[in-house]
Amino acid sequence: MAFSAFGIACKQDNNKSDTTQPKKKDLFIPDFNQDSAYVYIEQQLAFGPRVPGTKAHLECRDYLVNKLESFGVKTQLQEFKANFLDQNNVNSYNIIGTINPNATKRILLSAHWDSRMIADKDDNADMKNKPILGADDGASGVAVILELASVFHKYPLENLGIDIVLFDAEDQGKDNENWCLGAKYWTTHPHRPGYSAKYGILLDMVGAKGATFRYEANAYQFDQELHEAIWTLAGDLGYGNFFIPQMSGTIEDDHYYIMKNMGIPMVDIINTKMGNQGGFGDYHHTHEDNLDIINKRTLQVVGKLMCNVIYRENA
Ligand SMILES: [Zn+2]
Repeated sequence: MAFSAFGIACKQDNNKSDTTQPKKKDLFIPDFNQDSAYVYIEQQLAFGPRVPGTKAHLECRDYLVNKLESFGVKTQLQEFKANFLDQNNVNSYNIIGTINPNATKRILLSAHWDSRMIADKDDNADMKNKPILGADDGASGVAVILELASVFHKYPLENLGIDIVLFDAEDQGKDNENWCLGAKYWTTHPHRPGYSAKYGILLDMVGAKGATFRYEANAYQFDQELHEAIWTLAGDLGYGNFFIPQMSGTIEDDHYYIMKNMGIPMVDIINTKMGNQGGFGDYHHTHEDNLDIINKRTLQVVGKLMCNVIYRENA
């Protein structure tokens, strides 16, 4: 794909043509504010666990819509019914934001905004049936996207459209069933008929201390070049300790249904820990997934990489 035009080739051409001039304006990469992203995690957690069917869930839904709108993102809700963990017909909502609706070249940015109703991997038996805060598993990806929306507001994208889809009911599954319900719904009922994008990036667990991000096998197979370009760019930015060009195995996450049902290449930026049961961090689906595990440097690395990817696409 044309993705290889981005990054290093671009930079070298401009340096070669005139080293005395400041960098071309179209290659300006804005900063990413990790403190704001951190606050957006705190604010989501302040509602309590964001489990579909609860008051906290509705309150957080409205908070997210208002936040996106405050950054000039035209936002809509997509309602659907979810069945999970012995609950039926629970009102659930994908939150969809559109930037530059008329731009033909588009990038999709996604995360899930619900948090898990149970802590089935927690060591404390009494706490296994209680919902988790999901500081990393849910809130971190959403927070990075909110801060990116604020960056796009300050430094408008001229040649690129962005679609933000915050999926609901991603994290209420059990065994191999009922995961990614919002993504399953949106990819079969897109907000715009025939929706497509050049590619998409899913951010899931992007805020933990010591996070490492590897190639998700299905997504890598779908578009190797896209993955290698992004991981190479991360290395060039000095983020090689975070972005490790290794396979992590296959992960069922929202991105899978976007590839399968819409044919859009996706990248799943997700914290994996090799050798751990299930391949995720120790806090995964436990009550340890709270603010204590969030690290501003990780948010900064992921956010700044996203700024680099997106403003290079815009140039
Ligand atoms: Zn999860």
